[in-house]
Amino acid sequence: MLAEIITIGDELLIGQVVDTNSAFIAQTLNNIGVSIYQITSVQDDKAHILQAFKDAESRVDIIIITGGLGPTKDDVTKKTIAEYFNDTLVRDASVTKNIEDIWKKYVRQTLLQVNKDQALVPSKAKVLMNELGTAPGMWLDKGSKTFVSLPGVPFEMKKLLVNKVIPKLKEKYKFPFILHKTLLTYGLGESTLANRIEAWEEALPKTVRLAYLPRLGSVRLRLSSKGFNEIEVRERIDTEIKKVLPLIEDAFVGFEDEAKSLEAIIAKRLTNSGKTLAVAESCTGGNVAEQFTQNAGASAYFNGGVVTYATESKIKVLGVPKALINEHSVVSAAVAEAMAKNVRDLFNADYGVATTGNAGPSKGDSDADVGAVFIAIATKNRVVSERFMLGLARKRVIKKAVNKALEMLEK
Ligand code: ATP
Ligand code: MG
Repeated sequence: MLAEIITIGDELLIGQVVDTNSAFIAQTLNNIGVSIYQITSVQDDKAHILQAFKDAESRVDIIIITGGLGPTKDDVTKKTIAEYFNDTLVRDASVTKNIEDIWKKYVRQTLLQVNKDQALVPSKAKVLMNELGTAPGMWLDKGSKTFVSLPGVPFEMKKLLVNKVIPKLKEKYKFPFILHKTLLTYGLGESTLANRIEAWEEALPKTVRLAYLPRLGSVRLRLSSKGFNEIEVRERIDTEIKKVLPLIEDAFVGFEDEAKSLEAIIAKRLTNSGKTLAVAESCTGGNVAEQFTQNAGASAYFNGGVVTYATESKIKVLGVPKALINEHSVVSAAVAEAMAKNVRDLFNADYGVATTGNAGPSKGDSDADVGAVFIAIATKNRVVSERFMLGLARKRVIKKAVNKALEMLEK
């Protein structure tokens, strides 16, 4: 089953708004077994929109449209749909009521004619009531083909798509069951990982597809399969996961839907064990702390942190001995370990994490090589540290250092 997405709006074509609607729709449709043949963005222009409809209809069965449903003159989608379907606009009573309700509750200004006219819909359209806004969604059948027009506002679009459009599509068409399972790995590069699982990958049945999705410091392996028998599809994927897991045991941290990221896994572990964490950051400038505090519930385990960027701050705030810095350099295992130990004490935490390095692009406070980063983890009885060479691009060095800190913490 194939679909196309057409997003409408001048703002998309001048780059003022990024078309996130298409990504969401594509993902949602993919999940029910509909493949996207093409994504098109067009201006708020009748001729362009008509052409886009025609082109899409010649190629696929399902056409999802977003945007251009607003009350202002620049929004022409509805009129264009009416023209495309040789139809006229008629006032829909339930939409009128919805608009009046929204006005009473939230707007409390005079209801203008343009607002009332948002209740005008093509007579052939089935209204998909939008409780979150004044522009209704619309469903139009054209034989075996389907046009769906949704508001451009992302949260309105999402709710209509998930709650109304998907169920209706499932009624009209028969979709195969599709299953994706994504294994999260950290610490192995894409090629190393590929090398390890080469034999398994080559032996994969044709019905199971594998994709490598690398990110800085982590590679996600996505296994996909589809078919009309759900149990068979599940078994197919499970069989392959059982085979591949032993090969990547040291790098595997979980499945993506169960734990989205390494920091979430660490967070869960710390919360469950009642342990706490403090961080002392130099070259990562607070990014390690940010990884933890962006998730709700961080106060259960994250005691706090300091960004001691200047050498002086490491001495004053963290009490790293000046002599130690002079002896080993500020970018050294010894200093990272002292920072980790001291921040652990300072915040009365179970774990102390520290980073010190040179993210570049030139040599900084020390004579450390660009990209050299030391990371240390301190517990009550132990301090471990590691030296990493993380490349020359500053932002990537920082990002990789954060990942390395998380990896070390996870181990
Ligand atoms: P409403 O009447 O509820 O405003 P609408 O269909 O008229 O709905 P538009 O006026 O086209 O929506 O867009 C409203 C806002 O939604 C835009 O200003 C933009 O911020 C956002 N938007 C529109 N299209 C997209 C898109 N494809 N991706 C992400 N955001 C979008
Ligand atoms: Mg618009």
